Amino acid sequence: MPKTAVITGITGQDGSYLAELLLSKGYEVHGLMRRSSSFNTERIDHIYQDPHTPDRRLLLHHVDLSDGVALVNLLRDVQPDEVYNLGAQSHVRVSFDAPLYTGDVTGLGAVRLLEAIRASGVQTRLYQASSSEMFGATPPPQNEATPFHPRSPYGCAKVMAYWSTVNYREAYGLFGVNGILFNHESPRRGETFVTRKITRAVARIQAGLQEHLYLGNLDAVRDWGYAPEYVEAMWLMLQQDEPDDYVVATGVAATVRDFLQAAFDAVGLDWERYVRFDAKYERPSEVDALIGDASKAKSLLDWSAKVQFDELARIMVESDTRQLADELSGHRVRVDR
Ligand code: NDP
Ligand code: GDP
Repeated sequence: MPKTAVITGITGQDGSYLAELLLSKGYEVHGLMRRSSSFNTERIDHIYQDPHTPDRRLLLHHVDLSDGVALVNLLRDVQPDEVYNLGAQSHVRVSFDAPLYTGDVTGLGAVRLLEAIRASGVQTRLYQASSSEMFGATPPPQNEATPFHPRSPYGCAKVMAYWSTVNYREAYGLFGVNGILFNHESPRRGETFVTRKITRAVARIQAGLQEHLYLGNLDAVRDWGYAPEYVEAMWLMLQQDEPDDYVVATGVAATVRDFLQAAFDAVGLDWERYVRFDAKYERPSEVDALIGDASKAKSLLDWSAKVQFDELARIMVESDTRQLADELSGHRVRVDR
């Protein structure tokens, strides 16, 4: 029997790559999306199957993480083998402006899903998208034993979701796992995260469409990996005999300045000529350094990162350059499928 999976946040960066991966493994995939007044399925348009397609294996449902009853009904109907909770208000800077909303969707949303699993009585495995932002101010290297010290409403909400998943595992025997993923990027990364903001700007500056790139703190250290590799780790976690929590990271440190250098180098431009400072991109409290130690994932899942930040920057610059060329020529099609 082919397996059935539910993905919350299927329209996001990770949701789109995970859906591709699960479809390639023969799964029937049920994607949960929130209702929008305009299309919000750009990242999954290339795998979309019309409702009239016979034997279709990708099915989309309008279920918001704020709606606990809809979650119960969906799980009862679909009876999934695996549930991946990727839905979230996922932007750290935005979470300072919308702390209650972020707490509701990113924190309580996970609890609603856990309760929905219990209430529907479905026998399933749950992946919770936990984050290195939970480590916050605790110095690197960070692994599964590192204490949390979140520095944003987003980080606080993710800590709630993390501990709730552990609690349902201990209290009810749920097969629930936390993937503690460090930053991971791709051509499908949201346009306001720093990597994608930089690579889009490189393409536009090179094309003469943009003069300056305004950024905040360039000293922050991150451990940037490649999203398609990271969704493999999510799947592996749910294939183990016992539920557990895993750090997923490259182990390679780079500052925002290093990423800038790699991205502008990809087209032979000097970033210092274009980058300007704007305090509005700083955070009220910053996470100075995240560098993951993924040795547990290596030994138990046989997973390790291959793409590092400089290659990642090149991949993203090339994709944004192609995408811009398509837009300028009037063919507004995605190029990173
Ligand atoms: P994205 O922001 O690209 O995707 C988030 C998804 O959640 C989107 O599909 C979004 O829908 C959906 N969503 C937002 N609000 C709601 C809601 N109220 N109800 C239902 N769905 C909602 O994030 P990523 O794909 O990058 O990340 C996936 C998960 O992993 C997130 O939980 C994120 O916090 C976490 N994470 C990400 C890391 C990274 O570096 N990328 C690192 C560690 C953890 P819409 O498309 O309509 O906006
Ligand atoms: P985060 O690690 O989840 O917060 O991912 P982001 O990509 O949003 O930010 C990574 C780092 O880049 C943080 O330390 C930010 O303070 C820093 N940064 C500097 N300038 C910017 C900017 O203009 N936008 C964003 N999003 N981050 C910036």
